[in-house]
Amino acid sequence: MIPWRSTHNHERRGGAALFKRITGSFLLNKGHLYSFIICLTGLGLFVIYSEGSLQHFSSSAWGWVTAMAGAAVILTLFTFQLPPQGNGLSLDSSVYLACIFVFGPSFTLMVLLLSSLVLMFFEWGNTAWWKHLNNFAVYCIMITSASYVFAALGAVYGPLLSSRLEAYISAMAIYFILNTLLIGFYYYVVFHKNLYDTLKGMLTDTILAYSCTLVLSLVLTILLYHNQMVGLGLFLCLSILISYSFKRLFSMYRDIEERSNRDPRTGLFNHSYFELALEEEMRSSQASGTALSLAMIDIDDFKKYNDHFGHLKGDGLIVFLAELLKRETQDTNIMVSRYGGEEFTLLMPGYDATAARNFMESLRKTLNHSRFEGSEIFPQGCLAFSAGIAAYQPDVHFKSELVDHADQALYYAKKQGKNLVHIYGSQSPLEQDIDFSQDVRDIEQQLNLFMYKDLETFKHSKRVFRYAMDISELLNLDPLTKRQFTLGALIHDIGKLEIPWGILNKKDKLAPEEWEMVKWHVTWGREMALTNDKFKELAPYIELHHERYDGKGYPYGFKYEEIPRLCRMLTIIDSFDAMTTERPYQPTKSFQEAIVELRACAGSQFDPELTELFIQYIQKQDPCGSEAAIYIS
Ligand code: GH3
Ligand code: MG
Ligand code: MG
Repeated sequence: MIPWRSTHNHERRGGAALFKRITGSFLLNKGHLYSFIICLTGLGLFVIYSEGSLQHFSSSAWGWVTAMAGAAVILTLFTFQLPPQGNGLSLDSSVYLACIFVFGPSFTLMVLLLSSLVLMFFEWGNTAWWKHLNNFAVYCIMITSASYVFAALGAVYGPLLSSRLEAYISAMAIYFILNTLLIGFYYYVVFHKNLYDTLKGMLTDTILAYSCTLVLSLVLTILLYHNQMVGLGLFLCLSILISYSFKRLFSMYRDIEERSNRDPRTGLFNHSYFELALEEEMRSSQASGTALSLAMIDIDDFKKYNDHFGHLKGDGLIVFLAELLKRETQDTNIMVSRYGGEEFTLLMPGYDATAARNFMESLRKTLNHSRFEGSEIFPQGCLAFSAGIAAYQPDVHFKSELVDHADQALYYAKKQGKNLVHIYGSQSPLEQDIDFSQDVRDIEQQLNLFMYKDLETFKHSKRVFRYAMDISELLNLDPLTKRQFTLGALIHDIGKLEIPWGILNKKDKLAPEEWEMVKWHVTWGREMALTNDKFKELAPYIELHHERYDGKGYPYGFKYEEIPRLCRMLTIIDSFDAMTTERPYQPTKSFQEAIVELRACAGSQFDPELTELFIQYIQKQDPCGSEAAIYIS
């Protein structure tokens, strides 16, 4: 069965996280309460069912108790793990079940008591006493419940009766159902695992081994009755061989799994494993509110080294850096992966941007001071890397966004002269302004395509851009955010370039399938932005400007704070402009009518606070309620 002391491996990497969770006080209290109830129930059942056996057993009965307990101990020591989760499982339950069938519950409980004491002695210091007690109590509950069902269905203790097969099967079924439920519920209470998923996972992992235990218990029942000690010996040999086979199977599985997660050259985690871990860490950071940073490293001027010394030596340098990264992170919970060629990532749970920068700076200096053959040919005169850091924020929904941020910060560090660590979003305002007008020109060039395809979208994009410029001032946005928000506003409808001319310019109401196609423009637009490194960061504005505050928007149905604040503002600007200018499928509203409409939809379609802010701004622009648009393209 799956014991309490099982190495139930819910954590993909090592035991550190598991340890942290067990010692968390809130979880510990709940876990304690659950354990206490189990212990009380188990011990109560033990007292009732053991019927004072200590006095009544003959010496030969005690001999059998000892033999059976020895068998249970041996099988427990041969505990094996099952793929893929690594649930620990032993075949000792076949001994207890056979004891129930042949000798009854009081005998079985004595076997359990003796084997538990021996195991406690063996594992003293390795396993906490309360886990032994819990384990004992869980077994008591299972043994007594199985015995009850067995007797209730009219079976008698002794030889296997083929006419009462249903009693054996029902007893075994109740034994395993209770095992799964009691242990599964423990993981639910202590680790907050989803109960259904935990139970399903345990059942699918263990069904084969459970079936094996069931058959073995019936075999042992027959052997015990007809061949006594010889039968028990034979059974033990068979069970040990089976346990050993399962053990081998698991170690081969782990070996293959480990290899598929590692980069063969450096031994670091590979790109695919990094993606899995990043997703997991983002989820846990969101749930617990703890900091998380991602750093991306690229060796400076590596091509030069390759050209000078050849690829083989270049490989050696990659391995050298990997070893340094392993060494420097070994006492931390940072996970290092080889992202590609000479690029590495460091996933840093618990590190905010500043802590991550401090760590990376010290790493950079360590590399600068490390000696490696030929390092003098580098322009810096030493080994160097550039690094970009991105700190996780709750409005980052996809792992690709965080990677993009780190990548952009790395790109920036390279642009600033290399051998640098840069945090995403911390450029100086002056540097951003220089880039800004060039970026506007680049986007406008793309938008020019709308001049012949859909003039309305062209004019609309420019108006929305100007509204966004004003709102940026009003919100007092920092220069980088202002840049992203306004460029995002300018480019937000770029995906419409993919919509056929006939649909874009249709005067009548759109058919449902045409409407579905129009909705795709946010996704197509995002894909278009992602093709250009400079505009990757604008993707959320393009993709999320049709999300609604109440979650009824598209493409994801995000709601409230799940939608980044400025995307919520862009939705308001976009809708206001759509209401107040001529569109093929909608009559034009005056500014005052549009304000009424905005207010009516505040709280459902729009963020109410931002709506009010936008209305105040509009009223200042148009105090007399003129019907003319402020901006004429
Ligand atoms: P920068 O400072 O801008 O990063 O310049 P760089 O020369 O390092 O340029 P970049 O990062 O773009 O190019 C990396 C080069 O690394 C390209 C490729 O030839 C080489 N490379 C990638 N993977 C390996 C590898 O596994 N072994 C070797 N020897 N070279 C590799
Ligand atoms: Mg590179
Ligand atoms: Mg490089």
